[in-house]
Amino acid sequence: MSSLKRILVTGGAGFLGSHLCQRLVEQGHDVICLDNFFTSQKSNVNHLLGRPNFELVRHDVTLPIFLEVDEIYNLACPAAPGHYQYNPIKTMKTSVLGAINVLGMAKRCRAKVLQASTSEVYGDPLVHPQPESYRGSVNPIGPRACYDEGKRAAETLFMDYRRSNRVNIRIVRIFNTYGPRMHPYDGRVVSNFIRQALGGQAITLFGDGSQTRSFCYRDDLVDGLIRMMDAPDEFCGPVNLGNPEEFTIRQLAELVLELTGCRAQLVEEPLPVDDPTQRRPDITLAMKHLDWRPTVPLRQGLTRTIEWFRTIDLSHYRPPTPNY
Ligand code: NAD
Ligand code: UDP
Repeated sequence: MSSLKRILVTGGAGFLGSHLCQRLVEQGHDVICLDNFFTSQKSNVNHLLGRPNFELVRHDVTLPIFLEVDEIYNLACPAAPGHYQYNPIKTMKTSVLGAINVLGMAKRCRAKVLQASTSEVYGDPLVHPQPESYRGSVNPIGPRACYDEGKRAAETLFMDYRRSNRVNIRIVRIFNTYGPRMHPYDGRVVSNFIRQALGGQAITLFGDGSQTRSFCYRDDLVDGLIRMMDAPDEFCGPVNLGNPEEFTIRQLAELVLELTGCRAQLVEEPLPVDDPTQRRPDITLAMKHLDWRPTVPLRQGLTRTIEWFRTIDLSHYRPPTPNY
C-alpha cells in the first residue's frame, strides 16, 4: 500500500488529463482532478466520479490552492491554437502563475511535480528533428507567443525551483497528441479533419498542406508521462515525448478520408501566422532514460479516434471559443 500516492492532476478534465486521471485511479492512487473547465467538460471524468479514490475540484490554477499531495502533474493550460489565442493574456497567466502555484505547493509538500511543456518551445524549428538541446526559434511577439513563451517561462520556473529550492521537478515536452476525447471543436488538425470528413464537409488544409507534424496516440503519451514521473530523480528532463513518424498535413487529410470512407473535398485556406513548417521529435533521451517509445502507428490510432468520433453527439459539446 505504501506505493499508493495522493496525486494532483491540474487540467485533469481535459483530453490528456482525463486519461491520465483514469490510469492513476486504476492503479489505485488517490487522485485529485483540478480544472476550471475552460476547454473541457465534466463528461470527460463522469465515469470516475463514483470511485472512492477520485475527487474533482473546480478551481483556476492561476489562484493558489492548499492541498496535501505527493505528486503533481501540471497539465492545466489551453492547448489548441484557437483556444490559447482566445484570451492570450489569460493563457500566459495560466502557464506562469499556474507554474508558480504548483511549484509552491510542491515545495511546501515536498511533492514531485511534472510540467506538461510542449514542442512549441522550439517554435518554427530550424533544427530537424528536434532534440531537447535545441533552443528553438520562437517569435516572442506573434500570436502563438502567449502559449510558446508562457510554456518556456514555466520551464524556467521549474528549473529555478529545482536549483534554488531543490524541488523535485520533471519537464516533458509533448508533441502533437491525438485520440478519443479530444474536444471535437478544438480546431486542432486531427479533430477538424475527422469532424469535417464525417460531417460531409470540405477538409480545410491550411496553406498547401506541405507542413509536417508527428502524431502521438494518447495512450502512448500518458504512458510516457507516468514513466517520467516515476523516473530516477537525477533525470528531470526536459524530455521529448512524441511519435517520430512524420507526415505532411495533406497526407493526414488523405489518410482520414481513406479511413472514414468519406469523399470530402480538400480546400486550401490561408496558413496561420507563425505556423511551424516542420515538427518531429528526437526521442533518444526518452528511449534511453524512460525505455519509452510510441507503440501505436498513426493508422491504428486514427482508426480508434474515428470510431470514437462516430459515437459522440456533437450537440453535447459547446465550442469553448469562437476561434474553433
Ligand atoms: P485540453 O485543452 O484538453 O486540456 C487542458 C485542460 O486544462 C482543460 O481541461 C482546461 O479546462 C484546463 N485549464 C485551462 N486553463 C486552466 C486554468 N487556468 N485553471 C485550471 N484548469 C485550466 O488540452 P490537452 O491536449 O489535454 O493538453 C494538456 C496539457 O498538455 C496542456 O498543458 C498542453 O499545453 C500540453 N500539451 C498538449 C499537446 C497535445 O497535442 N495534446 C501538445 C503539447 C503540450
Ligand atoms: N491545420 C490545417 N487544417 C485545420 C487545422 C489545422 O491544415 O483545419 C494545420 C495547421 O495549420 C498546422 C497543423 O495542421 O500546420 C497542425 O495544427 P494544430 O492546430 O493541430 O496544431 P499545432 O501543431 O499547429 O499546434
